[in-house]
Amino acid sequence: SRKLAERLSSVAPSATLAMAAKAGRLRAEGHKVFPFSVGEPDFITPAHIREAAKAALDAGATHYTPVTGTAELKAAICAATERHRGWRPLPGQVTVSCGAKHALFNLAVSLFEPGDEVLIPAPYWVSYPEQVRLVGATPRIVDTTEEQGFRLTAEALSAALTPQVKAIILCSPSNPTGSAYTAEHLAVLADVLRRHDCWIIMDEIYSDLVYDGFRHVTLPSIAEDLAPRLIIVDGVSKTYAMTGWRIGWSISPIEVAKALDVVQGQSTTNAAAVSQAAAVAALNGPRDDIHAMRAAFGRRRDVMVRALNAIPGVRCRMPEGAFYAFADFRALRGRSFQGRVLASDIELADFFLEQGHAATVAGTPFGAPGYLRLSYACDEADIEAGIAAIRRAVEMLD
Ligand code: PLP
Repeated sequence: SRKLAERLSSVAPSATLAMAAKAGRLRAEGHKVFPFSVGEPDFITPAHIREAAKAALDAGATHYTPVTGTAELKAAICAATERHRGWRPLPGQVTVSCGAKHALFNLAVSLFEPGDEVLIPAPYWVSYPEQVRLVGATPRIVDTTEEQGFRLTAEALSAALTPQVKAIILCSPSNPTGSAYTAEHLAVLADVLRRHDCWIIMDEIYSDLVYDGFRHVTLPSIAEDLAPRLIIVDGVSKTYAMTGWRIGWSISPIEVAKALDVVQGQSTTNAAAVSQAAAVAALNGPRDDIHAMRAAFGRRRDVMVRALNAIPGVRCRMPEGAFYAFADFRALRGRSFQGRVLASDIELADFFLEQGHAATVAGTPFGAPGYLRLSYACDEADIEAGIAAIRRAVEMLD
């Protein structure tokens, strides 16, 4: 019969995209909307990368490439991993996909099946549990607390590791919390993971966006023995302001890379040739623009977190990285506006959009009810004005 596949019944559409649609409607009506819901840099891709892509097109980057990426891009990824992370993978471990989200999806298809559980610490990026569900496996959510910096503790991890657990997905720095693991935190988790044979997937897409001298450390440099089951996911979207080019990758054990080659070879084939050439230029090129963007994000983070903490009833932890403030609005739950009770973060986010024209994302879809995620990937004047608008909206509550 003409029915949709049953596997879709348990999968939620993207909450961040839903807020973007509502904000888009307000904008279409001519309103200025503060863009705190976006998950991408506001900067255009640096000029030298755009120029390299134009030159690559004229030189014939218009054909298929090898399924898992060009030799040039794999070499650039290996060299960049050594330069920035202190360990050098082999080109055969690298699988280039259409964005880190696609790399994660291919991993889900290649590794998970019905009966498998995948550990995901909350708050989590919305796509992790949904991708696990899409392939018929079961997400197992493990809560973290703000007091612990939204980091998974050894005790919580240890208690969650049952024989059904096939993998754990860690994200550092994290979307949505901006929280990141130090070498000490990772070493403690590595000790627990040594005792349970499962895949370890580390999403490091925000690892270059850390502030105040925070040092991003990657598991292979402190727990080499876990390498046979460790998979790193990374990409150019966030660091190089290249979300639209759709280039991400995984670095995995060779046997996993071979499985990914099969999955990708039967689905999307290679990521766009011109985008791969642009990614080579990004990874091998000058880093002045990258440093300037990071410095801007660092300043904006300080402005946003300070402004949020100045709102009565709102608390916001200073995040180590990414470009999100994850603020606790629980003290406002149950307050009302013109007789309408704002019972949840979802209603609060709608209220801020309607009354303050500030687009935020509710915490519930990230597994953190009562919180809101506010992206600071926008200019400082917007942050000042937008958080002031939220403050005025809060002051209107009974
Ligand atoms: N992982 C995390 C934690 C993200 O926040 C994102 C983007 O929002 C991605 C992966 C996917 O990035 P892309 O597919 O653009 O490379």
